[in-house]
Amino acid sequence: MNPPEFRLINGLELDAVPARLYRARANSHARQLASADWLLRERSNGRFFATMTGSRIQFLHRSPAPQRRLDAVAEVLDAADGGITHLPLSGLDPLLAELGMDAEAYGRQTGLAIVAEPVQLEYAGRDCFRRPLWLAYDAAKAWTRMRSAAAVQDVRLQAISGYRSAHYQMGIFRRKIARGMTVNDILAVNAAPGFSEHHSGCAIDIGTPGEPAAMESFENTDAFAWLQRHAAAYGFRMSYPRGNAHGISYEPWHWFWIGGNQS
Ligand SMILES: [Zn+2]
Repeated sequence: MNPPEFRLINGLELDAVPARLYRARANSHARQLASADWLLRERSNGRFFATMTGSRIQFLHRSPAPQRRLDAVAEVLDAADGGITHLPLSGLDPLLAELGMDAEAYGRQTGLAIVAEPVQLEYAGRDCFRRPLWLAYDAAKAWTRMRSAAAVQDVRLQAISGYRSAHYQMGIFRRKIARGMTVNDILAVNAAPGFSEHHSGCAIDIGTPGEPAAMESFENTDAFAWLQRHAAAYGFRMSYPRGNAHGISYEPWHWFWIGGNQS
């Protein structure tokens, strides 16, 4: 795989990200990460798995199943070159089974569709928590243009969150279940894994400095007023206005790139 282009590549088990964008979680890995091209992570839990420089792979942890590890790496390398644009939806089955959910019934009830995850995502700078922000290629370009246009008018738009995987969404459910919440409680505020617009890489939660992230009070900011006037020109629309048909609470911060009609 070529050295760092600013892409995130999704395999079924692993993803690959440019190593320089991430900090080692263990001191012993810091040097290895600093000199590597790519960092491979386990998609199920985000654990750092290996680094890759040229064709040299260095694993970060010992494993009793070396062949399985190599297979997982081969698979993400295929994903980087392959003509496949989206991950297969079958990856969701074990997650929804773990939650005891019927995907069809949930989709009918909420009017939400299953959202496929792109195999490749584009780096779009950092979010307000200094984490790398990943978006689908066209959405990343549109976000960058929109943000610059706002800045010219002294309006500061900040990304709170962009692409999130179904595994990430599953992690939210697992943590809340561990705290004693039921699946139905959680579904009142979080979309089921596989059904979040954030999986597409085209959704972005937008904030502005000095304003708490993802709160309804965002609607009173200059940033929100600017978005209402101008976001459509960049291909973005608000997904969950007040009283939306999905029964999802009002989210003035959540915008989706639908494309077309951009200036
Ligand atoms: Zn959102």
